[in-house]
Amino acid sequence: MIVSRLRLANLPTPLQCVPRLGERLGIDLWVKRDDATGGPEAGNKIRKLEYLLADALDREADMVITCGGVQSNHARATATLAARLGLRSLLFLRDTCLSDDDEGRGIPVRRTARSLDGNLLLDCMVGADVRLITAASYRRRHELMEEAAEGARRLGARPYVIPEGGSNGLGALGYVTAMREVRQQLDEASDPPFDLIVHACGSGGTSAGVALGAGLYGVADASWSMAVCDDEPTFEKRIEEIMVEARQLDSELGQPCAWSVDASAKGPAYARSSSEQRDRIIEVARLSGLILDPVYTGKALDGLWRHCASGRLQDKRVLFIHTGGLPGLLAQATVMDENLRQENDE
Ligand SMILES: *Cc1c(COP(=O)(O)O)cnc(C)c1O
Repeated sequence: MIVSRLRLANLPTPLQCVPRLGERLGIDLWVKRDDATGGPEAGNKIRKLEYLLADALDREADMVITCGGVQSNHARATATLAARLGLRSLLFLRDTCLSDDDEGRGIPVRRTARSLDGNLLLDCMVGADVRLITAASYRRRHELMEEAAEGARRLGARPYVIPEGGSNGLGALGYVTAMREVRQQLDEASDPPFDLIVHACGSGGTSAGVALGAGLYGVADASWSMAVCDDEPTFEKRIEEIMVEARQLDSELGQPCAWSVDASAKGPAYARSSSEQRDRIIEVARLSGLILDPVYTGKALDGLWRHCASGRLQDKRVLFIHTGGLPGLLAQATVMDENLRQENDE
């Protein structure tokens, strides 16, 4: 089967050695800079959207519908790319501060008092139709998006629904392709493969693509998905399902590399970090110039750090995938501010 792909990202992204941070952790640390896949649309989601939006255009869609948290990087990347391609976008965003939403169908953000910051600001800048929904409504997001698509069709639109995080078999192909890119970078530098890949996991698509691609191209022996919410069994099941879907689309895909989900660094809740995790983000910035975010990449690196501290990764060749998330950090400036001030008081 031929799968279409749009070229939307700036590729290849750099594969960088991070010596000072690596030395602190006692490993040979490399970072795949997928925070640099683009401008405001940057991060890991654009790789999935190269496939998902190609499918949308093949089906002559003129509108995309997707969902996520109120500071969803995926929703922002989708809305930004939709604007670039001339598609309308409708976003259902979960706002835990909301007590009620019009019969569970969402409230237009402009009718709420929510301040427009971070990803939400960018969504509005590019003209997305943003509807805030409660956590309870978010649980029925699939139905909600299908209902909205049905309504749009009745009005003559041609909507295309993208699941949370762009995480299905088609989206996961974006990370299979990313692993082919790493393979080429290793070959060009005559470098050996990695012992381990570490990355943040929020909806499973990146994990599925990385494990399949790392297996197919011999990029690494193992991949660890650091969960930022939920638990290990939930993600293991989800990632397996996505892999099955991906294999149906690409018959070349065989066995994944060894992979596992680790929820030990998920912190207090989705999008909420511990003070230690925020201190670590600051320490990483000073040791490497890498800016991590408190929702995804900061937690993933915190997990890696603690495994390194236990000594089990001594001298291993590790690839950390920087999946982006900068707008999410900027939306949490007040929380980060407290950590930065405390430090100056000491
Ligand atoms: C979405 C996201 C992830 C997780 O990717 P999934 O494919 O949803 O598991 C990691 N990092 C950042 C910055 C993200 O926005």
